[in-house]
Amino acid sequence: MLLDDMVERSLPEETRMMRDVTRKFVDEHVIPFMRQHWQQEWSMRPDGRLPDRILQVADEIGIRTLGVPEEFGGMALDPRTETQTFAVISEEISRGDCGLSDKLVQIWKVSVLLRNVAPRHLQELWFPRVVEDPSFLLAHCLTEPRGASDRWLPYNVPEAAMQTRAALKGDRWVINGRKQFISNGYDAKLYVVYANTNPKVGMLQGTSSFLVPRATPGLTVQRCNETLGGRFMNNGEIVFEDMELPRDHLLAEGDALMRAGIYFRPGKIIQGSKNLGVGVRAFEETAKYVQEYVQGGRILIKHQATALRLADMATEICAVRGLLREAAAAVDAKAPEADVLCNMVKLYASESVLRVCKHAMELHGGNGTMLDFGIEKLYRDASMFLHMDGTVDVSKFKIVKGLFPDTAGKYAGPEA
Ligand SMILES: Cc1cc2nc3c(=O)[nH]c(=O)nc-3n(C[C@H](O)[C@H](O)[C@H](O)COP(=O)(O)OP(=O)(O)OC[C@H]3O[C@@H](n4cnc5c(N)ncnc54)[C@H](O)[C@@H]3O)c2cc1C
Repeated sequence: MLLDDMVERSLPEETRMMRDVTRKFVDEHVIPFMRQHWQQEWSMRPDGRLPDRILQVADEIGIRTLGVPEEFGGMALDPRTETQTFAVISEEISRGDCGLSDKLVQIWKVSVLLRNVAPRHLQELWFPRVVEDPSFLLAHCLTEPRGASDRWLPYNVPEAAMQTRAALKGDRWVINGRKQFISNGYDAKLYVVYANTNPKVGMLQGTSSFLVPRATPGLTVQRCNETLGGRFMNNGEIVFEDMELPRDHLLAEGDALMRAGIYFRPGKIIQGSKNLGVGVRAFEETAKYVQEYVQGGRILIKHQATALRLADMATEICAVRGLLREAAAAVDAKAPEADVLCNMVKLYASESVLRVCKHAMELHGGNGTMLDFGIEKLYRDASMFLHMDGTVDVSKFKIVKGLFPDTAGKYAGPEA
């Protein structure tokens, strides 16, 4: 029985076909690259870590531009199951490498946002460029050095507002500030940037969003952050110094954070799915290892304690996948419980998959700690998910707020 096919009974045919194509891509291109060139992860030339060829093949099989409207050359997905499809495909890519998955899913998520909030002229200008260029990456810039949890909860008071500021001068927006920890921040060609446009009100009323081309004078990519895991995605820090932007590059004025919900909900599902892909790979590698490696005169799996660990790993993976599929369907159906389920996915996936990867490390013994074996990489990759897309504690607050709005929810984060 293949663990990959469990909890997948209700997958739509279209999604199943795309999953199989993606799995082939991962098995033929991504996993062999990671095995043969594991040192590339530690290259201090961020743009040289992943060969262009991998993004090109992702592009050829159509998984780079999911979320881009079909009229601009994107892949047509059934809107009733779009988030569910995102989930399945991002899990598969992440089985090969979660950094590669990060690179690609930022394109999907930002495209979903743009097709919902960007004025028509900006969609006509930018979507064709995204589609034509296999190296075109997108980024979504919210987090600032002062912290991100305030935005997630959110604290809707002027003191907690964005420190990046935008002011309209004549027919141009002038933006000053700094964004940190941004996925694809180092190498994106187009950024969605959030800035305060009204310091007198809270962030839900005073934050606006802008579409910023990389070549805009005043924008500097300050650095590539060297991270513990997910290293094939180049996370970056961006600075804006008197950056001038045409007035019509405004996406949403004042209520940009509220409108970003269209990005956040599928985003949480994709986050959980990338996380799950790391766990699936850890299980696959470990299941193979324990059926080949001998101790005490028999293969490891014939020692009962080993088999019990595998049962724990498989159960955690299936439980994460089951919760994910339910939450993704709730997002697609715009169900009221979608927010709580999304936060449950974030919480449960990040803690479970880390446990799965810890079992993998232990069952590989010393080999589990060796860089060229690839198991420690999965453990490092899994640990990143605790901190991405909001912290685990913030997700718990959101769950409490959703379930107990009149009692405990009032004390979870900002007291209302
Ligand atoms: C690999 C990676 C990729 C990322 N990609 C992006 C991206 O593309 N775009 C983007 O905008 N951001 C991105 N981020 C930022 C990410 O969303 C934040 O790191 C995350 O939300 C946590 O924010 P923080 O790091 O500022 O921690 P903080 O908010 O400073 O939190 C620090 C600690 O305090 C706790 N805490 C905070 N507030 C409270 C409270 N009120 N009550 C109790 N505990 C509290 C938190 O749970 C945490 O344990 C990325 C981060 C990483 C690591």
